[in-house]
Amino acid sequence: MGFGVLGIRGLLALTSVPGVFGAVVERAPGPAPVEIIERDVVIIGGGAAGSHAAVRLREDFKKSVVVVEKDVLLGGHVDTYIDKTGAPRDYGVQCYFTYDDALDFIRRPALNLTLMPGLSRAATGFEATVRNVDFTTGKELANFTAPDAMVEIGAIVAMYQVLTSKGYDKMIEPGFYNLPAGPQIPDDLLLPVGQFAAKYNVTAALAKMYESTGGGPQARDSNFLNIMTLTFLQSFSPSWMKVFFGAADLFYVQGGNQKLYDAIATLLGKDVLYSTTVTSTERTATGVKVKVRGPSGTKVIKAKKLLVAIPPTRENLAPFDLNAEETDIFAKPTYGRYGTAIVTHPKLTPGQELHNMPTSAIADPYAPFLNTAHVLTFSSYGTDTDLFSIGVSSSGSSYAAFDERAATRVAQQSLEKMALAGTLPKLGCKKLTVVEWSDHGPGGFGVTPAEMRAGWMDRMYGLQGKRSTWYTGNAIAIDFTTQLWKMNDETIKRMLAAW
Ligand SMILES: Cc1cc2nc3c(=O)[nH]c(=O)nc-3n(C[C@H](O)[C@H](O)[C@H](O)COP(=O)(O)OP(=O)(O)OC[C@H]3O[C@@H](n4cnc5c(N)ncnc54)[C@H](O)[C@@H]3O)c2cc1C
Repeated sequence: MGFGVLGIRGLLALTSVPGVFGAVVERAPGPAPVEIIERDVVIIGGGAAGSHAAVRLREDFKKSVVVVEKDVLLGGHVDTYIDKTGAPRDYGVQCYFTYDDALDFIRRPALNLTLMPGLSRAATGFEATVRNVDFTTGKELANFTAPDAMVEIGAIVAMYQVLTSKGYDKMIEPGFYNLPAGPQIPDDLLLPVGQFAAKYNVTAALAKMYESTGGGPQARDSNFLNIMTLTFLQSFSPSWMKVFFGAADLFYVQGGNQKLYDAIATLLGKDVLYSTTVTSTERTATGVKVKVRGPSGTKVIKAKKLLVAIPPTRENLAPFDLNAEETDIFAKPTYGRYGTAIVTHPKLTPGQELHNMPTSAIADPYAPFLNTAHVLTFSSYGTDTDLFSIGVSSSGSSYAAFDERAATRVAQQSLEKMALAGTLPKLGCKKLTVVEWSDHGPGGFGVTPAEMRAGWMDRMYGLQGKRSTWYTGNAIAIDFTTQLWKMNDETIKRMLAAW
């Protein structure tokens, strides 16, 4: 795709006048002036990866940047709802864990933030009363006995030891730069996670791992145990396992995790274009032109490098001028959809957590897997508030089919089942109120084991730097913020080396 209405000739015919952003406003013969922004790097997406890269490139490596973000704020998967008392309620990212020196990024004086130990959600010290309910029958599981925590932790330690003793951690963390070429990828990493766990006698780890990932990777598959180990480890990495046995610490940002991205937004100022998306690109070995549309119209960004920090889904890449190689690579991955929300319903009891637990878990509490679209929990924020958080996983439904409407329907139906079974009082005509919804986009982005064996990841990473384009983000690396930041550091190092 090219420059649409103007065309290259039209662009060359433009005359320049000084504009905002230290940029240039060029007047075309036609009616609307098109603003030209010139930067060293244009970054698409202002989530964890894009925001971090922008700060590192501009502040630490003195490269000029502009971030193109479709939302009205930075932060991606971070969601902080400020309730009517002023209390921050995080319902997306809960914490940042220690990984190498990555947390120093948050500690930089320019951001002026305070890191607090623990999970954001636990800040109040409140612990919900958990009721285990099969949301498909609506019945509470009276005879359910939770797995033994020590057995679960022991299995996570054992799994960590398998991964590290075989050097798998080094192949996958923090990104896949060190993953062997397709034919040499260890068979283990391409096994379904259920088979991997059985092979190494660590199936007792699966329940905790399933719960911790909250259904994100499961958005991809209708059977949790079938998720490829490598894909699953993106969301439950070896370094994250260390949190469970006390070898890594958790922190959150005082005042809510969104504060981090608000501070970055303040620092970056006009170098972020909000509510803006790409409409076309032209990429060559010497630079890129990215046409974007936002609230103040169309702009053209000319940059030496492009950093793609959005999931490279077919939907997201549609406006990009993909060549045959890129088209082939990005046609392969599949992914489902995952969302979170703050909700209320008058029949939900403040202080309680309704945990979706299949009836089969009475017989085997180490296998509480939900294999259809589902809400994992309705989690109260405390006895003094009617707010609950939910996470909704599409579990194998197609990405496009599972939007906010579909997710809300799943949540509402869960409540109706519980009311019919007498677990909740009768709902009357009251529907679930969605106070705030957050689309977490593709879950479990990835390809099949056969495609991985055939070298999909080599080809994906082989695109780094080609046509002045670089890639980062959770879809192609480990899906934790601090690890993504280290992935960024490596990517930026390579980008600067190739400048
Ligand atoms: C519910 C949830 C909870 C999580 N909790 C934690 C946690 O506690 N700790 C942790 O370390 N990790 C957590 N993670 C994982 C972590 O959030 C991700 O690893 C990280 O946010 C991914 O960052 P990213 O920049 O790759 O993607 P994103 O954060 O998704 O950022 C992508 C950005 O690009 C923008 N965008 C998307 N499409 C376009 C487009 N076409 N044009 C322009 N902009 C676009 C989006 O609006 C977004 O701002 C959680 C993830 C989820 C889903």
